Amino acid sequence: LVRLRARLSRSQSVLGRGLLSVLSRDHLDDDAWEEIEDSLISADVGVEATQALVERLKERVRVLGTRTVSEVRAQLAEELTAALDPGMDRSLRTTPHDGRPAVVLVVGVNGAGKTTTCGKVARVLIADGRTVLLGAADTFRAAAAEQLSTWGERVGAETVRGPEGGDPASVAFDAVKRGIEIGVDTVLIDTAGRLQNKVGLMDELGKVKRVVEKHGPVDETLLILDATTGQNGLEQARVFTDVVDVTGVVLTKLDGTAKGGIVIAVQNKLGIPVKLVGLGEGPDDLAPFEPAAFVEALLG
Ligand code: GDP
Repeated sequence: LVRLRARLSRSQSVLGRGLLSVLSRDHLDDDAWEEIEDSLISADVGVEATQALVERLKERVRVLGTRTVSEVRAQLAEELTAALDPGMDRSLRTTPHDGRPAVVLVVGVNGAGKTTTCGKVARVLIADGRTVLLGAADTFRAAAAEQLSTWGERVGAETVRGPEGGDPASVAFDAVKRGIEIGVDTVLIDTAGRLQNKVGLMDELGKVKRVVEKHGPVDETLLILDATTGQNGLEQARVFTDVVDVTGVVLTKLDGTAKGGIVIAVQNKLGIPVKLVGLGEGPDDLAPFEPAAFVEALLG
C-alpha cells in the first residue's frame, strides 16, 4: 500500500487535493457538491459514473446526517470502493488444464505497454514457481520481438519468434505448439496493435485467435490500456473489445498520471475487470488491482 501510494502520488494531486479543499469546508452546500463532481470528473472517473457516485453520496450523507469531513471522506471512500468492486473476478487464468498450458493473449494499442506487461506477468508467474513461454506475435513493430526475447532472458522464459514482418498468427500457433511440447504452464502471446487500420487489425487479431484455438481455447485475453490516455484510450479500447473476448484489463503507467479515476471509467464503460496495474517500467512494477487499497491511495 505504501508503494502504491507513493507511485500514485500524482493521482492524489487531482482527486485527493481537489477533495481536500472541498471537504475542509464547514458544511456541504451546492457549490461544494459541484466541486466534488468536478474533482471526480477531472480525475477521469467519467461523467456518468461521477453523477451516479455523487447522487449516492448525497443520499448517504442525508440519511446518516453526516457532518464531519472525515465522515464524508469515509463515505466517499466506501462509494468509490463499491463502484470499483461490483463482485468481479480478478484472478488471472494462467493455470494449465487438460494436459496443456493456459494460453493468454495480450492485446492493445501500440505503445500501451503490451510487451513490457508480458515480461512482468512472466516474472510474477515464474517467481511463483510456474513455467512460462513467450510468443512474439507482434511481428509488425521491428523491435518488439527483440524486446520480448530480452524480457524472456531476464525472467527465465523461452521466447518463440518469427521473421520480422511475418505472419503473427503463425508465430502464435508455433508458440502454443512449442509450449505444449515442452510442457510449460502458461503461454503468453504478445500481439500487434495498429489502430490506424481497424479492419486489418480485426482480421489479424481474429486470425491469431482462431489459429491459437486449433490447440484449444484461449484462457485469458488481457487488454493493455495506457492510463495516461484517459477517456480517449477508452474509446480506442472498444475496437479490441469488439474483436476479441477481453477477459481482463491491465492499466499501465498509473505512475505517470494524475488521473487514477480512469480505473472506475474503464470498468464502468467496458464492464471488464481491471486485473493488474502497471506502476513503472521495471520488472517488479506490476501489482494486482485491489479496489480498497487503490481508493485509499487515490484519496491520499
Ligand atoms: P507495446 O507497444 O504495447 O508493446 O508497448 P511497450 O511494452 O513497448 O511499452 C511502451 C513504453 O511504455 C515502454 O517505454 C515501456 O517501458 C513503458 N511502460 C510500460 N508499462 C509502463 C508502466 O506501467 N509505467 C511506465 N511509467 N511506463 C511503462
